[in-house]
Amino acid sequence: MKILVSVKRVIDSNVAVRVKADRSGIDISNAKMAMNPFDEIAVEEAVRLKEAGVATEVVVVSCGSAQCQETLRQALAIGADRAVLVECHEELQPLAVAKILKALVDREQPQLMFLGKQAIDDDSNQTGQMLAALARLPQATFASKVTIEDGCAQVTREVDGGLETLSVRLPAVITTDLRLNEPRYVTLPNMMKAKKKPLEILTPVELGVEVAPRLTTVCVVEPGKRSAGVKVPDVKALVQALKFEAKVL
Ligand code: AMP
Repeated sequence: MKILVSVKRVIDSNVAVRVKADRSGIDISNAKMAMNPFDEIAVEEAVRLKEAGVATEVVVVSCGSAQCQETLRQALAIGADRAVLVECHEELQPLAVAKILKALVDREQPQLMFLGKQAIDDDSNQTGQMLAALARLPQATFASKVTIEDGCAQVTREVDGGLETLSVRLPAVITTDLRLNEPRYVTLPNMMKAKKKPLEILTPVELGVEVAPRLTTVCVVEPGKRSAGVKVPDVKALVQALKFEAKVL
C-alpha cells in the first residue's frame, strides 16, 4: 500500500508573527520556518503504518518555494521513502494545492492520502476536503486513531461531545488531528540518510494545473491589545464582578 502525505512549510509556531506595514499579510522574511505540526503527525502516522508492515511506501509532497526541500528532507528523516516538490513561487491557496495533490494522486495512485487537518498559517482547514471532492475519494477528517483492515480505514474522529468512528473504503483521504500520535524526534543519522533519499522537483505546469489565486486578501490586522485584568479579594467579589460588571452570569 502506497501512502501519499502532504507537508506544508509554515512559520514556526513559537515565532511571534508580525503583520506587514502595508497590512497585506504576515511578514515572513527572516522568520523561522518549520513543518506544519499536523503534517508532522501525518508523516509519523504513515511511517508507523509502514513499520507495522501495513504500508509499503511513503511519499511526501510539498508545494511552494525551493526552501520546501528542507521540510521534505525532515519528512524523509522521520522515515518517508521519497519526496516530491511542486515548485511554485506564487501564493498558493487551498484550492490550488488541492488541484496539485489531485494531479499527484492520479500520477501516484496511492491507497491512502494523509494531510494535516489545517495549516497553522492560514487556518483554512479546506485542502483535504477539496482534494477528496476533486479526486472523488471518501474522506475522514480530524483523525485521532487510524486502523487499516480489509481494504478499509477505521478512523476515530474527535467531535463535539465525544468520539465518532467511521469506516472509509480505500483509497481515501484522511486528515490528522493533534492526538493521533506524538511525532518522533529526528536523529542526526536519520537526517544524514535523508539527504540520499530521492527528491523529485515538478512544476504545476508539468502537472497541468492552473494555480492562480481566486481570493483576494483585503486587509490583515493584529488582534486588539487585551486590557489589564483586575484582582478580586474573594469568591464573593468574583461572583459580584461577573454578575454586575462583566454581566456574564
Ligand atoms: P489548509 O487547508 O490550508 O488549512 O491545509 C490543510 C493541509 O493541507 C495541511 O496540513 C497540509 O497537509 C496540506 N497543505 C496545504 N498547503 C500545502 C502546501 N503548500 N504544500 C503541501 N501541503 C499543503
